[in-house]
Amino acid sequence: MSILNENRCIFCRVIARTAPGEIVYSDAQVTAFRDIHPVAPCHILIIPNQHIESVNALTAADEPLIGRLFLVAQQLAHQEGLAENGYRLIINTGPHGGQTVKHLHLHLIGGQRMRYPMG
Ligand code: AMP
Ligand code: ZN
Repeated sequence: MSILNENRCIFCRVIARTAPGEIVYSDAQVTAFRDIHPVAPCHILIIPNQHIESVNALTAADEPLIGRLFLVAQQLAHQEGLAENGYRLIINTGPHGGQTVKHLHLHLIGGQRMRYPMG
């Protein structure tokens, strides 16, 4: 669980409220907070409370959790007023994927029209 990584992982510390974070949603499985370096008017990170390093570390037991991340993203997109015009969901994995924080996170990005790819 996140508590094991509280000293090492910045996202585990946000979940534990021992590091600052603008938390917009939390439940027993999932926490969502605003990215400190937003790339668009709305940029939220949706993460499992459990410390899972990346998509590479997922197992079949995590299938419901991954579904939950997407449904929270859908709910937040609605709340943030993004649903009608659309938004982007991104999961970066490993160095070539551009992952910089080794705690699985789903980026919810919106509020402007975006090109693909972003870089
Ligand atoms: P990634 O490059 O996919 O690993 O994304 C990591 C994201 O986490 C980046 O967009 C960072 O701006 C963001 N980030 C890093 N530290 C924090 C933090 N303490 N609070 C909120 N967002 C953070
Ligand atoms: Zn963590």
